[in-house]
Amino acid sequence: MKILIIGGGIGGMTAAISLHQAGFEVEVFESVPTLKPLGVGINLLPHSVRVLTNLGLQDRLSETAVATRELVYFNKFGQRFWDEPRGMFAGYRWPQFSIHRGELQMLLFRAAQENIGQNRIHTGHHLHSFVEQDNQVYAKFVDKDSGEILTEVKGDLLIGADGIHSVVRQHFYPNEGPPKFSGNVLYRGVTKMKSFLTGSSMAMIGYADKKMVVYPIHQTLDEDGKQLINWVGDIKAEDVQFSIRDWNRQADKQKLLPQFESWRFDWLDVYKLIEGAANIYEFPMSDRDPLERWSFGRITLLGDAAHPMYPIGSNGASQAILDVDALTESLQSHPDPVAALQQYESIRLPATAKVVLQNRQQGPDHIMQVMEERAPNGFSNPYEVMSFAEMDAMMSQYRRIAGFDRDTLNQKA
Ligand SMILES: Cc1cc2nc3c(=O)[nH]c(=O)nc-3n(C[C@H](O)[C@H](O)[C@H](O)COP(=O)(O)OP(=O)(O)OC[C@H]3O[C@@H](n4cnc5c(N)ncnc54)[C@H](O)[C@@H]3O)c2cc1C
Repeated sequence: MKILIIGGGIGGMTAAISLHQAGFEVEVFESVPTLKPLGVGINLLPHSVRVLTNLGLQDRLSETAVATRELVYFNKFGQRFWDEPRGMFAGYRWPQFSIHRGELQMLLFRAAQENIGQNRIHTGHHLHSFVEQDNQVYAKFVDKDSGEILTEVKGDLLIGADGIHSVVRQHFYPNEGPPKFSGNVLYRGVTKMKSFLTGSSMAMIGYADKKMVVYPIHQTLDEDGKQLINWVGDIKAEDVQFSIRDWNRQADKQKLLPQFESWRFDWLDVYKLIEGAANIYEFPMSDRDPLERWSFGRITLLGDAAHPMYPIGSNGASQAILDVDALTESLQSHPDPVAALQQYESIRLPATAKVVLQNRQQGPDHIMQVMEERAPNGFSNPYEVMSFAEMDAMMSQYRRIAGFDRDTLNQKA
């Protein structure tokens, strides 16, 4: 069976490796002419690291990524009120990795090249349209810049892993319109700085409309003893019409710096962190409503094409990788590929819809908003504001919804 994968992002490349290892013939079609290590940091939760480990990738990931030790929540005054160990430090059989998105994509790209062969990865091929006919899918590709038609390819299945602006999704939902803007803008950057906390901690600071997420994405320090630190400022937008959803759109640092003037804590200087970034990027936090279905005959969706979600709770890339796992298993266990795509959808659509909806309520970061509302001027003892049991219940509920409850996950191979 020949499977056409549209999109060479995190989901598409992982799908290529996984489906190839399961014995299928795959070809990847990626819109951009040259893959470059774009983006800033992202996190891979233990459930997705399990999938990548089973594909033989954990050693490569360990060479560059940071095995996240702890997740720590602070209020806007830099006061700590919740911390929990993460990954293997929390007893999972797999680590949580913090990694540069571009490095992850290139790592997956190289692994895909080794698995399926360079000649089966077609960059500069933007999916234009497709049609299913006589148990085959015919896909037409163009050069995105010139619009010139490049080729038409035939396959048995087509997987739309073409991200938040998916052409495959648009084909089935032509009237859906653009992704929904949350009202908050994400400002993203990386900065070389002295390590903070344990050197492998993920810090969440602030509350719903003014939040800073900070974590290192390289384990090694440079010659000046500095570590590469990823940060994301999540801010309520002044311009509610903000609509350009381009992951590579650069922003002016001056827009952000005044907001964090006073965030200079003894354990981390947030202002300096922003100031030290070479470039910063802005992206309107967006998602889409969960779909009723995403498998249509011999065509299905995967990753952001299927379920774009707010990047809250470290789930964007992780859920795409979980899709790959379920898709591969379904195709392996069903002789009929159409039934397999239906089964894949029945497993992953409800699971990801819950995460999309939960992330609209801030996911695990809801704890920050509750703390802000109850103690806007800070606290002397956080447990007088929120009991340990209340905080623990909020955090463990999200772990269950996002599918990384430790004891359930540890039972899997
Ligand atoms: C350049 C870039 C930078 C990003 N930076 C961040 C970041 O800093 N932080 C973060 O949380 N998330 C970022 N993301 C999103 C993140 O990668 C995804 O949310 C998540 O990893 C799910 O992956 P995905 O494979 O579904 O989508 P993506 O990783 O977005 O991959 C989709 C791929 O499909 C390709 N594509 C799109 N349309 C077509 C078409 N018609 N034909 C062929 N190929 C097509 C795209 O070029 C892209 O390579 C970024 C995405 C991109 C593309």
